Amino acid sequence: MSSYLRRTTLASESRGLIFDGFPLTFGQADDLDTWFAGRSGALDAAIYFNMKESHASKRLESRLICSCGMMYSASVGVKPLCGVCGSTPVRREDDKPEIIKRRIMVYRDQTEPLLSHYRSNGILMEINAEQPQGAVTVQIAAALKSIL
Ligand SMILES: [Zn+2]
Repeated sequence: MSSYLRRTTLASESRGLIFDGFPLTFGQADDLDTWFAGRSGALDAAIYFNMKESHASKRLESRLICSCGMMYSASVGVKPLCGVCGSTPVRREDDKPEIIKRRIMVYRDQTEPLLSHYRSNGILMEINAEQPQGAVTVQIAAALKSIL
């Protein structure tokens, strides 16, 4: 059982759950199925944020994060200081180009195969993540509304 699921509390289960970035592998997907089976439940949907690898790379390479959690994009002009806490946003170690390439290879190898698994289960919902943020938000809301 993954530690991700062990940390999930009963209180959060009663309101419904959204797992962000999980599962990423078939092993984690099996853990999730087992976890739901123990609760007589099942996964309602798997949301896939679809974008070209080149687009994802560019977005990650331009991402800066502040110690308070705010994220900024260097591509739209970075303020020297965080607008929330005044700290200087920095690039995460795993957002460097050579590490992004490795992350994409791991994604292709371990995560992408899950798409056909969830598609064949009839629960895959695909979002065009290359759209502007507002359009992505509208698509997410529509996807969630369709399963409520
Ligand atoms: Zn900040």
